[in-house]
Amino acid sequence: MTEATQPIQRRAIALVSGGLDSMLAVKVMQEQGIEVEGVNFFTGFCVEGHTHAIRKKDKDKDKRNNALWVAEQLGIKMHIIDISEEYKDVVLNPKHGYGANLNPCLDCKIFMVNQATLMINKAREFAGDRGFDFIVTGEVIGQRPKSQRKETMPIISQESGADDRLLRPLCARNLPPTLPEREGWVNREALFDFSGRNRKPQMALAKHFGLDDFAQPAGGCCFLTDESYSNKLADLWKARNERRYELDDIMLLKVGRHLRPEPHYKLIISREEGENRFLEGYRYMFTSITTVSCPGPLALVDGNLESEEEVSQAAAIVARYSKGRVLDEVTLEVRQADGVARQVTVKPAQPDDVPLAWNVG
Ligand code: SF4
Repeated sequence: MTEATQPIQRRAIALVSGGLDSMLAVKVMQEQGIEVEGVNFFTGFCVEGHTHAIRKKDKDKDKRNNALWVAEQLGIKMHIIDISEEYKDVVLNPKHGYGANLNPCLDCKIFMVNQATLMINKAREFAGDRGFDFIVTGEVIGQRPKSQRKETMPIISQESGADDRLLRPLCARNLPPTLPEREGWVNREALFDFSGRNRKPQMALAKHFGLDDFAQPAGGCCFLTDESYSNKLADLWKARNERRYELDDIMLLKVGRHLRPEPHYKLIISREEGENRFLEGYRYMFTSITTVSCPGPLALVDGNLESEEEVSQAAAIVARYSKGRVLDEVTLEVRQADGVARQVTVKPAQPDDVPLAWNVG
């Protein structure tokens, strides 16, 4: 008597950004009986979570990590991996250059798929046949001008080392068959041929799956695509005379109004209560300025105030954004990072004293 052999359960690891496309890609795989686990890479430039949690203007939005939320909706295990340190080289030296802003999308995709490939290899080493068989992404040809063109798809597969173990279920039928398709692990006919920027096919597929809640369908997952943010990052490099950053630097670029009155110092001025609280946490790293005689913002001084005139200049600018902006005088506290503080009284800057050109973003 022969026992019926069970087909091998194929397993995929999916890059999950938290947006609709990767959510659909996972769902399409699950429909084909593939066991999927997700991976989400933390670069430091992610839009969600941090900013939404701080700012009042987003107070009606759910404070959720979209990747985790997607995992919960789809019932998959999610690996959230901090790659912020290794990712610096992608941002600072992108082999394939930047997109419209400082977004190194093509290098970024290659890097992330490569990280997933390393995970596959590692899982195989440690878990034997419980490793992953292939990688899944939610990429759609023609959706993004730089990283998701037909010509760049093979570049991502090859340069990441994933080769034909990289499957894009949403546009697979526009591309040559990959290993999972050729081996019959997945049915190519049940994959999709989406292309271009039109989101209607994705919306229809979401409806078909009964998914009616998802994050930002048109992307916008990363601050590097944002013009204002990219300007602030470029300004940071210029002021430092070198292209480098730490995690705190790129977090602070997400918060407050950034004004650079002099090449050697910048003010980061909170715009609301939540930002005030966030900047409070940095008072041991920066000189800070806050109003004493009236309610007002907290400002960090990134750089050095080199003279008494500059202390007064900075204080007057901060006073301009306080409740005392129409008064003749406002008293502020200037506190050094080591806690030593003193008070200064100044006339708040007038609108013309704060030229638009100082606005870094
Ligand atoms: S938008 Fe940001 S996270 Fe997305 S591919 Fe481009 S650089 Fe990477």
